[in-house]
Amino acid sequence: MEKSLKYILPESELPKKWYNIQADLPGEIPPPFNPAKGQPSTPEELLAIFPKDLIMQEVSRERWIEIPDEVYEIYKIWRPAPLIRARRLEKALNTPAKIFYKYEGVSPAGSHKPNTAIPQAYYNKINGINNLATETGAGQWGSSLALAGTFFDMNITVFMVKISYDQKPFRKTMMQLWGATIHPSPSEITNYGKAILKEIPDTPGSLGIAISEAIEMAVTHENTNYALGSVLNHVLLHQTIIGLECKKQFEALNIYPDIIIGCVGGGSNFAGIAFPFIQDKINKIKKTEIIAVEPFSCPTITRGKYAYDYGDTAKMTPAIKMHTLGHSFIPAAIHAGGLRYHGMAPLVSYVKELGLINAVAYHQIPVFEAGALFAKTEGIIPAPESTHAIRCAIDKAIECKNKNEEKIILFNLSGHGHFDMVSYEKYMNGLLTNYELPQEAINKALEELPEVKL
Ligand SMILES: *Cc1c(COP(=O)(O)O)cnc(C)c1O
Repeated sequence: MEKSLKYILPESELPKKWYNIQADLPGEIPPPFNPAKGQPSTPEELLAIFPKDLIMQEVSRERWIEIPDEVYEIYKIWRPAPLIRARRLEKALNTPAKIFYKYEGVSPAGSHKPNTAIPQAYYNKINGINNLATETGAGQWGSSLALAGTFFDMNITVFMVKISYDQKPFRKTMMQLWGATIHPSPSEITNYGKAILKEIPDTPGSLGIAISEAIEMAVTHENTNYALGSVLNHVLLHQTIIGLECKKQFEALNIYPDIIIGCVGGGSNFAGIAFPFIQDKINKIKKTEIIAVEPFSCPTITRGKYAYDYGDTAKMTPAIKMHTLGHSFIPAAIHAGGLRYHGMAPLVSYVKELGLINAVAYHQIPVFEAGALFAKTEGIIPAPESTHAIRCAIDKAIECKNKNEEKIILFNLSGHGHFDMVSYEKYMNGLLTNYELPQEAINKALEELPEVKL
């Protein structure tokens, strides 16, 4: 342990099952609701856009769910992912804390997202679906699904949030190389996109709008389903491979993290690293401090309301109970495009309500400062989303220094930032701003929450 830097599990130790936290949560998470019908949504309603296997995982209470062989074989291309001790960062901070990060940037798409893109494509394929429509923010999810599309020989259509489409042109090339078709969102090819463009021609777009466009495409086209890169229970389930590996890696080291940190957009990479450890917290085996980190300009958990809301701007999804800023909320055009989502995964929201996790929000500039320090010390250039987790890990390590505590800090380095050079360039040239977010903007969007009577 003393000299090692990297903790790599042998391929034979790759977990064979995902962990379903729904088996261990006290109580039941509130069910999805159909405001038009005034009653809870049925699994059948979801069959219009999702394959039955994924719907079954969505509502499953089984603790362990087998990873299919075909998915397992593809996971092996980059998994198990390394757990790395950030010794140079520790030294730069002069902290007694031990900082570890799980590096998900080793996947072909460069983030954690293929962990769920691969099984989602697989389950659609075995249910006879050949076309998938989806949205993407920063381009990470779109490229991950494009990658899965190439493995399973499926057609992938991606609606990419306009601001990212302009900021990250090479993500687009990457998706095209893997055979996907890309449209900037809002686009001219859906009715909803056209309506938004008419109303706000220069909109930067948002994940909420792009989701509506992708769902519209799935609903109006034959043999076409929709795939979501975060938020839903089955997505979080697939991501638990991250935390399950971490647990094995820490077991081999004979230590256990005191603090676990992840950035949150829709909540999937955070849940992926945290849920297997939260199981120990629920069972009162450990008291780990678990922190979700979000951008100040899209503060879903720290300033949103825990209420039923739609997952998309056009209200096509069922209403789900989650921390939300309101489905009409359009976040400022920060560079962490993957964190610009108005809602939060219902399971992450629920564990927050239970007091099992905390949340903090950071402004854009201190977050990029943390990313730059990480790049200079550890070498890896992090995705702007991941720098939120790094900022928090650094602050916790400094706290350890001030209190002279030797805590073990683990954070999820959800992806690399190789396609985010325009953002880093702006940061270096002093062109980034910290966007303030007036309470009225949140209150206004919250006025539009659907009425739900259970
Ligand atoms: C998409 C993305 C996120 C945010 O999404 P979650 O579902 O909250 O994980 C974070 N980091 C990276 C690198 C991403 O691509």
